Amino acid sequence: MDSRLEAVRDTVLARNPGELEFHQAVTEVFESLGPVHDRHPEFLEGAVLERLCEPERQIIFRVPWTDDSGRVHVNRGFRVEFNSALGPYKGGLRFHPSVYLGIVKFLGFEQIFKNALTGMPIGGGKGGSDFDPRGRSDAEIMRFCQSFMTELYRHIGEYTDVPAGDIGVGGREIGYLFGQYKRITNRYESGVLTGKGMSWGGSLVRPEATGFGTVIFAEEMLKTRGQSFDGQRVVVSGSGNVAIYAIAKAQALGATVVACSDSAGYIVDEAGIDVPLLRQIKEVERARLTEYAARRGSSVSYVAGGSVWDVNGTVALPCATQNELDGDAAAKLVSNGLVAIAEGANMPSTREAVSVFQEAGVLFGPGKAANAGGVATSALEMQQNASRDSWSFEHTEARLTEIMVGIHDRCAATAEEYGAPGNYVLGANIGGFVKVADAMLAQGLI
Ligand code: NDP
Repeated sequence: MDSRLEAVRDTVLARNPGELEFHQAVTEVFESLGPVHDRHPEFLEGAVLERLCEPERQIIFRVPWTDDSGRVHVNRGFRVEFNSALGPYKGGLRFHPSVYLGIVKFLGFEQIFKNALTGMPIGGGKGGSDFDPRGRSDAEIMRFCQSFMTELYRHIGEYTDVPAGDIGVGGREIGYLFGQYKRITNRYESGVLTGKGMSWGGSLVRPEATGFGTVIFAEEMLKTRGQSFDGQRVVVSGSGNVAIYAIAKAQALGATVVACSDSAGYIVDEAGIDVPLLRQIKEVERARLTEYAARRGSSVSYVAGGSVWDVNGTVALPCATQNELDGDAAAKLVSNGLVAIAEGANMPSTREAVSVFQEAGVLFGPGKAANAGGVATSALEMQQNASRDSWSFEHTEARLTEIMVGIHDRCAATAEEYGAPGNYVLGANIGGFVKVADAMLAQGLI
């Protein structure tokens, strides 16, 4: 790492003790930015990096709620409003027991660059809670969401901060959150949240957008080597929103997706994952992958525990969570013939894993570029809300494709410009950073 940047990075780490995922995300971005500071000394003079690493605002709040038996629980809510140089803060809410400030800050930091790469007018933010939705009834989820929004509402708004979903927050939760926001504010302010239902301000393609976009990005990477998804053997991690639509899109492009996972294990289905069955089990019944294996019969194996990355494939799409793919798993994938990997999840590969992929010459699409289709389509949802319009599936999907191809090409061109052709990590970090840094300097010392 450039020594000027290393000094700033060390200060950031010391000021934010214990926030390991945030440290990791900052280090990874700083490692790319040395050459930019040679060309743009004004970024150093304006202390852009120091300002960028300090969120504009961080909100932490109590979320009390009662379960179905009347017992009181207290969770912690977060919203980190990281950077608004390009537009209102934008980023999802995550409900998962692992959530703490360091996770929210790593996600919010990544979101700044991701949102810049989309070319849409959106800043970066992220939020969530250490609430565990697993096993909770609809009524409990609703009471939790209502309590969460009873504090959050005063910090958000269509021109201020626009949350969306993430792990543990899908259409059902966005509905309860939106209902409570509307009730408290007495405003039908559609643009305050994205990921809404189709009849109340949502956008077609938003549920599919992150997974579809990841596959479109990967397809563009494959094209640079004269390949495509057709005939590829694909391994996916996760079986939630991003994973399901990544599987669907990869198979629509002619690939066979042979494996996916949840936090308890993984399935191997050599005939290709049956997407309608997977959706029925995960989205409708909210059941586990064991159920998929039970219904699909003896051709499918379920492996409890273990790592889905033990399954060999030519393309890997990690779509579960951060740091789910380490250096050993990466080495195994490479030795099994991996050609390309695109991150549907945020920071699923450890820094060691990224090095293994890059050294082996595997095409590697980092999450902040490859999974930007979700937030880009959220911005399209905001556009439709602002104009009180709703677009067709075809139109919206065409916009998503155009945006993902644009992100791919910008990352590739930036990597080339900085003397590292094919290095999408460098291209994404520099491409996103320069846009935000220019806007920050133009807006003065704030
Ligand atoms: P979902 O909650 O729909 O699904 C998450 C999936 O990942 C589930 O299969 C879950 O398994 C698994 N998972 C979660 N945590 C862990 C863990 N600690 N260990 C192993 N498996 C785990 O979330 P999404 O699909 O929305 O999000 C997945 C990833 O994509 C996240 O990194 C998110 O930040 C990222 N992302 C999401 C976007 C979106 O639009 N939704 C946009 C951009 C990025 P289980 O059910 O067993 O917990």
